[in-house]
Amino acid sequence: MKASQFFVSTLKEAPADAEIISHQLMLRAGLIRKLGAGIYSYMPMGLRVIRKVERIVREEMNRAGAVELTMPVVQPAELWQETQRFDKMGPELLRIRDRHGRDFVVQPTSEEVITDIARQELHSYKQLPRNFYQIQTKFRDERRPRFGLMRGREFIMKDAYSFDRDQAGAKASYQAMAQAYRRIFDRFGLSYRAVAADSGAIGGDLSEEFQVLAATGEDAIAYCPQSDYAANREKAAALAPAGPRGAATQALTRTATPGSSTCAAVAELLGVPLQTTVKSLVLATDEGSKSQVWLLLLRGDHEMNEIKVAKVPGLDAGFRFATRDEIEDHFGCPPGYLGPIGLKKPLRIVADREVALMADWICGANAPDFHVTGVNWGRDLPEPDAVADLRNVLSGDRSPDGKGLLAIERGIEVGHVFYLGTKYSQAMNATFLDENGKPRLFEMGCYGIGVTRLPAAAIEQNHDARGIIWPDAIAPFTAVICPIGMDRSAAVQAAAEKLYADFLAAGVDVLLDDRGERPGAMFADWELIGVPHRVVISERGLGEGQLEYQHRRDPAATRVACADVLAHVK
Ligand code: ATP
Ligand code: MG
Ligand code: MG
Ligand code: MG
Repeated sequence: MKASQFFVSTLKEAPADAEIISHQLMLRAGLIRKLGAGIYSYMPMGLRVIRKVERIVREEMNRAGAVELTMPVVQPAELWQETQRFDKMGPELLRIRDRHGRDFVVQPTSEEVITDIARQELHSYKQLPRNFYQIQTKFRDERRPRFGLMRGREFIMKDAYSFDRDQAGAKASYQAMAQAYRRIFDRFGLSYRAVAADSGAIGGDLSEEFQVLAATGEDAIAYCPQSDYAANREKAAALAPAGPRGAATQALTRTATPGSSTCAAVAELLGVPLQTTVKSLVLATDEGSKSQVWLLLLRGDHEMNEIKVAKVPGLDAGFRFATRDEIEDHFGCPPGYLGPIGLKKPLRIVADREVALMADWICGANAPDFHVTGVNWGRDLPEPDAVADLRNVLSGDRSPDGKGLLAIERGIEVGHVFYLGTKYSQAMNATFLDENGKPRLFEMGCYGIGVTRLPAAAIEQNHDARGIIWPDAIAPFTAVICPIGMDRSAAVQAAAEKLYADFLAAGVDVLLDDRGERPGAMFADWELIGVPHRVVISERGLGEGQLEYQHRRDPAATRVACADVLAHVK
């Protein structure tokens, strides 16, 4: 590629709303341009990175025996009603309506469509196992899209789905994917950890997240340096002993009478008559454990004159248990460590946007001895900090295997592997015929990689004051040739063209910067863009049969004989 025929568009300054370094550098290097909140164009330079990520993912998925297909971005609501996700999923699911008044969704993932394909296409156990994947546009109406491609609303995900005849098969498929993920993230040259994650309703250990370690990660992970133990935030927080701990929670001096209803308990706590109606009521359950956790929220000023049940989709008259996601969607915050056994863990609730400023709430749980005061909801509160929260919960704790103290670090979730069991096949009656001709439900797994989040995570890990430092595997170009004075010197021009041709012939993904920029500006551009290998050609060097080679991580350039330069790049 020649720069004159490509598109290089760098910025001196990043827009003020770009908070983290990867977002700033992706904008400055001209990789992406913003169209709306969480919606970006992948510019030519950025698309090259994304395509390289896709290629590696594709190679390893194919190697692991998965087959590629592409499913529609816009999907009929009927399928999503079969699994009830159309109603249950909350506002993160973008719902649209066509001219005939029919409902559709824009895919946030594609379990429904792939299960529909399986029930139509896979009739016999002889066709199993199967693993289908796609690399496709996703849309999630994230409450807080931010950090550029890190948490977009529109983004690209690789999503794979495995179909097996029994649990043992499904577990083998899961392990094959977990293995493929390790190979993929190794190839990206990133420092990451696979951590145990909550496997939701299914139980067991078959869910892992792949977390890239980075100081700006939104997630927190806990691990034991002395053993293999590593878990994501939710899973690690579930270890926390009962009882409130941490700055954001305080036990009330008076506690509920054991056995009383929460309403009665809170009324008692507040010293108000029980018939007082509450101002806002949220019922929550932890989907995974199925234990009913509920949470009653009352204004601390005791002015309770209006029942306002959480506006969650599908909420019918009376009470219903809301899911964690619904709580988060409604209140604009995660329900803290609303754990499987009542509110026996620290609760930290910070809301933004949807809820007006509210201060000093009291939260009561239907577990005796656990009520918290001073819970604040409001825009101007600090954002919840995953690492600080997890430290609050787990400070000084030993890992479950007893082998050492837990360490807590920030991470960026770039991949997730998940054993689903028959959750979707059951809901959609997706069966195949076994050896005895009996219909059986597919055992499934799903496996995601954040294709467009990955470059952002890579930059968080690989940058310096001058810009990005791409790992070779996903650099927009592996090498750049920077001729100085190409327009004035026939010798420089000839050497540049020859080197360019040699690199291409050797299979190097090279760019020749023939724009005629001044050396300073040219070097600054490529340092910002982060091309790992740079070769500078000047008349003076050529006179001595030499070029200048510099790796993006090297402190200075080294003189290299023209004939030897290729060896540095390959
Ligand atoms: P997060 O916890 O960051 O919201 P998730 O757990 O909701 O992610 P999954 O449903 O597991 O995401 O999707 C698989 C992968 O897709 C994630 O591991 C992540 O890399 C990527 N991903 C999810 N949401 C986004 C997003 N809004 N922008 C970019 N990538 C995303
Ligand atoms: Mg999410
Ligand atoms: Mg997650
Ligand atoms: Mg996930």
